Amino acid sequence: MKIANESYSLETLAVRAGQERSQFNEHSEALYLTSSFVFDNAAQAAARFSGEEPGNVYARFTNPTVTMLQERLAALEGAEGCIATASGMAAILAMIMALLKAGDHIVASRSIFGATQQLLGNILPKFGIETSFVDGGDPAGFHAQLKPNTKLVFIETPSNPLTEVLDVDALAQVAHARGALLAVDNCFCSPALQRPLEQGADLVIHSATKYLDGQGRVLGGAVCANAALTDEVFKFLRTAGPSLSPFNAWVILKGLETLNIRMQAQSANALELARWLEAQPGVARVFYPGLASHPQHALAMRQQASGGAILSFEVDGGRDASWRVVDHCKLLSITANLGDTKTTITHPASTTHGRISAEARAASGITEGLLRVAVGLESVADIQADLSRGLNSKAG
Ligand SMILES: *Cc1c(COP(=O)(O)O)cnc(C)c1O
Repeated sequence: MKIANESYSLETLAVRAGQERSQFNEHSEALYLTSSFVFDNAAQAAARFSGEEPGNVYARFTNPTVTMLQERLAALEGAEGCIATASGMAAILAMIMALLKAGDHIVASRSIFGATQQLLGNILPKFGIETSFVDGGDPAGFHAQLKPNTKLVFIETPSNPLTEVLDVDALAQVAHARGALLAVDNCFCSPALQRPLEQGADLVIHSATKYLDGQGRVLGGAVCANAALTDEVFKFLRTAGPSLSPFNAWVILKGLETLNIRMQAQSANALELARWLEAQPGVARVFYPGLASHPQHALAMRQQASGGAILSFEVDGGRDASWRVVDHCKLLSITANLGDTKTTITHPASTTHGRISAEARAASGITEGLLRVAVGLESVADIQADLSRGLNSKAG
């Protein structure tokens, strides 16, 4: 039982795409907790191993629950193929190991996830793959860093934590003009709000740990692309083994069923909270792509279905004032994680961006007064009340 993906809308695909029923006709997707698969006879075993006959062999390669997740996510991203991985970082590593080699070069935006920055900047150079980092989202800045051996341009949009929006279509043109691929980490928006492949990107990366699961339960990741690219990623995965557990795949698969409705509701909450924060005394600036005051508001509204669920804001009074807001929270979770139905608050300068130099932080706009909120599904009034306490408190 497979549905024809082309004719259905995103909401329907999120609930139905990729499901394959067993002989028991279960209604909900089955969880296949098995590491290996049996064959009818020796000839079939040989045919499965050689790839002559399609089918499952061993769960490092494929597992039916993981396959259902891959097909559903591919349908949502409008991709020919999808390879699920053990985590978001495993997806980035698998993409690079599969598609690049020693001597190749990457151009990446500087404001990417901290572990991605470490992987590109500190680990890959050991294997002969160098990365040039670009400050800001201007396509001309990326163009200037391209070399004859550049194979990959890697970005996140909107950026973390300042929500700068990068122009996927323009950057795809910059990359393609020099024969490089464009990969977009679509973790912040998810396919419910943004589909980078439709805008010219070649690869979409996911940390399924965030909005795809959406409830902070399991780790997972994925690479979505055309079949030629995902075939290469699959060859690396089945050999090197950063494969997704079927249990995690099953959790994420069920998470996708509510993705659209969660992203819509969490984005609406974020917009309401951003507007309220802009009007609060003591708040110097709010960064949220859905606000008219955002520098790339027009681009964001063209590229994304809404502003997303993540915002940041700067309070007057530096670290003392921003830590007071954090320390007065009783409801919001003080954690660096995001993409959960529970609202989280983070002080980037002392946590996620604490390891980079003060100068580099200042240059990228991550001030001591900056706070990031990943807005969940609680009532906005309750979130406002939680933030108000700290915003209205005096230095003690
Ligand atoms: C969390 C995150 C990752 C890494 O994902 P894991 O599942 O934690 O390995 C990559 N990119 C972005 C934007 C993230 O937020």
